[in-house]
Amino acid sequence: MMCIMLCRAAANTEVDLTFYSCAMNEFIFDVKNIRKDFPILSQEIYGKPLVYLDNAATTQKPLSVIRKIEEVYSTINANIHRGVHRLSQLATESHEEARKTVQNYIGAASSKEIIFTRGATESINLIAASFCRSQCKPGDEIILTTMEHHANIIPWQIQQDITGIELKIVPLTEAGEIRLEDVEELISSRTKLISLTHVSNVLGTINPIEELIRLGHNYNIPVLIDAAQSIQHISIDVQALDCDFMVFSSHKMYGPTGVGVLYGKETWLDKLPPYQGGGEMIAHVTFAKTTFNELPFKFEAGTPDYVGTTALGEAIRYIKNIGLDNIRHYETHLLQYATKKLLQIENMQIIGTSERKSSVISFLIKGIHPYDMGMLLDRLGIAVRTGHHCAQPLMDALGIEGTLRASFAFYNTEKEIDILAEGIERVVKMF
Ligand code: PMP
Repeated sequence: MMCIMLCRAAANTEVDLTFYSCAMNEFIFDVKNIRKDFPILSQEIYGKPLVYLDNAATTQKPLSVIRKIEEVYSTINANIHRGVHRLSQLATESHEEARKTVQNYIGAASSKEIIFTRGATESINLIAASFCRSQCKPGDEIILTTMEHHANIIPWQIQQDITGIELKIVPLTEAGEIRLEDVEELISSRTKLISLTHVSNVLGTINPIEELIRLGHNYNIPVLIDAAQSIQHISIDVQALDCDFMVFSSHKMYGPTGVGVLYGKETWLDKLPPYQGGGEMIAHVTFAKTTFNELPFKFEAGTPDYVGTTALGEAIRYIKNIGLDNIRHYETHLLQYATKKLLQIENMQIIGTSERKSSVISFLIKGIHPYDMGMLLDRLGIAVRTGHHCAQPLMDALGIEGTLRASFAFYNTEKEIDILAEGIERVVKMF
């Protein structure tokens, strides 16, 4: 961030900021070239250049990921793990290699701790079902926060009905932050797990998960981190964090849809019972008794999406090539630029004003329904999201129905933010 700011100060403010080059400490962010890797971005929508600002919903895919999917289907496609033939071995190697790539990306101690799922949602459902069934009795408590995505609420509500657990909800401050003392106040002798998001998909708030995990562990309570909105922006080391579980989705980190990850400490995963039954997850089956496979296969019933996992591995290579620290610098700059720009618009209200934010801006314009604004921006080629963003309890707490949301990735530019601001001004004038 510092570097970008120094560059800005040193440079002519009219300079083409789609290209950053800073000789001072070798920081180079060549967004113009990066954009060439994403074919979808050069499209026109209604005759206007696409301005894609819906990255918190899903990210676009680089050519290397798209080509990897084609390559796997064209060269090594075969069902994995049980095959003796060459193609099956190659596909298995490719899938297991991807597991190691994920392990390295998040700093897990062992590849056994990486469970492939269909997405963050399935990963949370897996833990909710398996954890509550084996670790909870009626009256035991799970702590969530007001800013959770429905994916980190409903699986626990389903378990509430099945196992009789109770949910305790951490309130938020005005700025949309969590206070440690509010979490601590909810902890009781019945608390079994704290499950919270690293970054809010609505407010952009980056939660102090290091401190929250430490707090949980002080009381011997495991902590699940929903990293769906952080894994693509912030460098994460699960061992340094010491979280017990972490979940995320491939499609939000430039990988394919339909693949997700559950990280769990081996000691926990060993203790928990399987979530789904079927092929792959067994050691031996008779009608009288079945024994289960070792980790990670115990939690991976059925044919996994080995094409998707391989492509996720490619997406991680792509991210690492750019460098998460560079991504974070550049996206923080985009966030600050966009916040400043949007605040110049009359009647603009930004929802979520934490000091520690990811590149997500939710906003409202007094007198204009978010849906109308979103529809009209779409006609200008600008893709933003409108609505409750799968966080209705948060909307209730804020006393609103929904927001507009612009979310930025490393391939977005200042120019696109200018187009967004101009588009909003145009719509405001129409009203
Ligand atoms: N958690 C958060 C914070 C999210 O933003 C999302 C997706 N919007 C999810 C969980 C669920 O992710 P998926 O739909 O990919 O399973």
